[in-house]
Amino acid sequence: MSDNCLFCKIIEGIIPCTKVYEDDDFLAFNDINPAAPVHILVVPKRHVHSLQTISAEDAAWLGKMLALAPEIARLGGCRPGHEGGFRVVINNGLDGGQEINHLHMHVLGGERPWQNRAAPAA
Ligand code: 5GP
Ligand code: ZN
Repeated sequence: MSDNCLFCKIIEGIIPCTKVYEDDDFLAFNDINPAAPVHILVVPKRHVHSLQTISAEDAAWLGKMLALAPEIARLGGCRPGHEGGFRVVINNGLDGGQEINHLHMHVLGGERPWQNRAAPAA
């Protein structure tokens, strides 16, 4: 737990979240300001700043986090198969668009808005 880290406080249960998945090493919860119909954040329970601070020794748990993505997407309601799918994003550092300084993997999915638009005239 890192002082003044929002996601550490969510992991500790000090700040509430809508939990999607939890195991010994990871917690997944809905993003408070979703950018897609499904927008889930997957965080390691151990405080890690970002991919900027990891090394080769972290490969095993990082691989486990990535391998959780399809299960998290399924639990969140992403559509299966090639017609469905999901996007995985990790922002790192200020230049990488990171706002919360605790490593997190965004899992985004759901039907894309532009699929509902009328087809352009031929
Ligand atoms: P970043 O820009 O750091 O990659 O993403 C941070 C994400 O955390 C944003 O998508 C933002 O909406 C989300 N977020 C910020 N504060 C909270 C919060 O208190 N609860 C939840 N569930 N998500 C948050
Ligand atoms: Zn933290």
